Amino acid sequence: MDASPKSAPEIRLRGPHLVVLVGASGAGKSTWAARHFSPTEIVSTDRCRALVGDREEVQAYSKQAFELFYFLIEKRMELRKMIVADSTALDAGTRRNLLDLAHAHAYPAVAIVFPASLDARRSRNAGRARQVPDDVLVTQQAAMDRAVASIGREGWDTVNMLGQGETKPASVVRLGAEVRSTTAPPYDIVGDVHGCYDELTELLAKLGWLVDGETWSHPEGRTLISLGDLADRGPDVPACFRLWIRLHAGGKALFVPGNHDNKLMRYLRGRKVTVSHGLAASIEQLDALPRRERGELQAAILRFIAEAPPYLVLDDGKLIVAHAGIKREMIGKVSKRIQDFTLYGDVTGERTPDGLPVRRDWAAQYRGNAFIVYGHTPVPKPIPFRRTVNIDQGCVFGGRLTAMRYPEMTFEHVRAKRTYYERPAGSLLTLDEPDG
Ligand code: ATP
Ligand code: MG
Repeated sequence: MDASPKSAPEIRLRGPHLVVLVGASGAGKSTWAARHFSPTEIVSTDRCRALVGDREEVQAYSKQAFELFYFLIEKRMELRKMIVADSTALDAGTRRNLLDLAHAHAYPAVAIVFPASLDARRSRNAGRARQVPDDVLVTQQAAMDRAVASIGREGWDTVNMLGQGETKPASVVRLGAEVRSTTAPPYDIVGDVHGCYDELTELLAKLGWLVDGETWSHPEGRTLISLGDLADRGPDVPACFRLWIRLHAGGKALFVPGNHDNKLMRYLRGRKVTVSHGLAASIEQLDALPRRERGELQAAILRFIAEAPPYLVLDDGKLIVAHAGIKREMIGKVSKRIQDFTLYGDVTGERTPDGLPVRRDWAAQYRGNAFIVYGHTPVPKPIPFRRTVNIDQGCVFGGRLTAMRYPEMTFEHVRAKRTYYERPAGSLLTLDEPDG
């Protein structure tokens, strides 16, 4: 939470946000929004007044206009779109409603405060087509002072206070999903966890991670990397996410989502998904939590998965982690097709006689220089092959949970305490391998 006043900041937005403009009439909110966002991203109460009642200056249309305003914002949230809420937002109730919507949809909420003086607003008001009565301008100045006094305590992710009378106020930097990480090695990269929390903590201890209460750290300052599928099938999915989210917030962990995490995210967004048995485990475990804790954790998980990059380029391009792998020509790029590849692998769309998706072996074709660590399809051992290695040893199916140390390129594993989930017929995993 950063509520300290800053002048002319650079506002960096990675992924969809709710950007709430706060300021009196004539402060320059709509002008600023139009400069930095596309018209469809801006949801404006004035525009809503016009849409419901033909005229944007008629305050008597406010009730219907606000209903439409919140409705449009919520619809855009369902679609994970960028939203700029352009109203004065001078009363605490409006700001509360907007924050509640953001929390319900796990949206980062940013307030941008436009503190123009009454004189500046009067002269700007006089020079524009839609003129606000002078007594309104005066009343709003007091409301603005109250808003500025309380906004730092309201729960915004960030509050950007623009300078008085700025002629060139804050610029906006829009960031796409960043696949290049500047976090330097060494790393401990962990395969598909699937809720196997006991095995995870045992593995962390083996790797030299120390725990103090709920906080894990490594004396060598290593970074823990999950290549996805923390969710589903196993016994304690909430604990696995809690651990990773906490470490990630502390700058000690990275995460790329797996197909199971992606499906859990869609479920948490309220989408219609087929609740297969693996997902049912995650849902049951979340539902069993006390109501408040459940709400908070679900929102945190949703946001954690939604904001994660589809794969990561690490150590100046020498190392890639991607849940189901990646092709050489995809590295460094982001698209829906590439994201699908990293989630599901090189699927043909066909199914085996056992009903499993047919997967092409992209690793056999790989000729790149970057070393790729992946998981998704359990194999008995982590055997490097053509600068790739699959470190999913099927822990949840009674196999092992593997970690690869980088740059050491050594492996550590723990055996599953039991079989938590029957592996699908036709799976490559065999568990009668000698211990190694
Ligand atoms: P309202 O709440 O009434 O919609 P607003 O905050 O959206 O007001 P704008 O309509 O953006 O205010 O700006 C009011 C007038 O001030 C416009 O005529 C606009 O061209 C002018 N203006 C906006 N920003 C600046 C600025 N930084 N410097 C000078 N004039 C400005
Ligand atoms: Mg405006």
